Amino acid sequence: MKKNKKVVLTIGGSDPSSGAGIQVDILTLLEHKVFPCSVVASVTSQNSSKITSTYHIPSSVLLNQLEVVFEDFDIKVVKIGMLGTLKNLDTVFNFFSSHPVILVIDPVLESTSGFPLVEQNMVNELKEKLFPLAKLITPNLSEASRFAGFKVENISDMKRAALILKETDPEWVLIKGGHLKGRKCVDVLYDGKSFREFLSEKLRVNMRGTGCIFSSAIAANLALGYDIFTSIDMAKSYLLKKLKTAHMPGCGRPQFSPNNPA
Ligand code: PLP
Repeated sequence: MKKNKKVVLTIGGSDPSSGAGIQVDILTLLEHKVFPCSVVASVTSQNSSKITSTYHIPSSVLLNQLEVVFEDFDIKVVKIGMLGTLKNLDTVFNFFSSHPVILVIDPVLESTSGFPLVEQNMVNELKEKLFPLAKLITPNLSEASRFAGFKVENISDMKRAALILKETDPEWVLIKGGHLKGRKCVDVLYDGKSFREFLSEKLRVNMRGTGCIFSSAIAANLALGYDIFTSIDMAKSYLLKKLKTAHMPGCGRPQFSPNNPA
């Protein structure tokens, strides 16, 4: 029997069209050669053009899923995306307060089209409960604006927001600049002492699930033993490649194309 692979758990929302959420997380983790476990916190109904509903999983069922996978698998890295409800957030908070792991939190609040993916008040609860447990949080500009309480539009705003978010006590804050105006994508990383900027070209591809792919790739790289800088650098290159090879299996927005399509 082959040596066990590293295991990464993703906790998030199901997307039946595999462009976002835990399905695209699984595709990303597999391409990084780590074994994906997945705990469903919410079931969305969406395709490549629209999202029509969300059904949030009862927190007792979320907890059952966590307990059985942790009983069986050696999980050191967990990526958290869409949690849906405050009860689910509380369950995850309680669970990881007593199961220390490397947590990468992609603090999802709504879809690109503005469809709410979580209950109101999630902003405060994420800041108070989950961020302090995180190795890394990865808000985009609109999420950073909600968490920091002002509109984050440029690199100096991103740095100001990172300072504010660092006060919630994650180890690292990465504010993603994929939606910055201009030709470059700049992500800002902050650890409480210094800033580091990650620069890449910006492609005009309106691909679905980019935040999910990016944070899953970072989580996989951390599980493989890379440091935070290398993990982010490699995840950025991976995402760029995925943007360049995005395909249109549906009729709406382009999405992740696996390396070895069926
Ligand atoms: N659906 C799920 C389950 C998600 O986790 C996310 C984002 O994290 C989205 C939809 C939003 O995807 P998009 O930004 O492509 O609209």
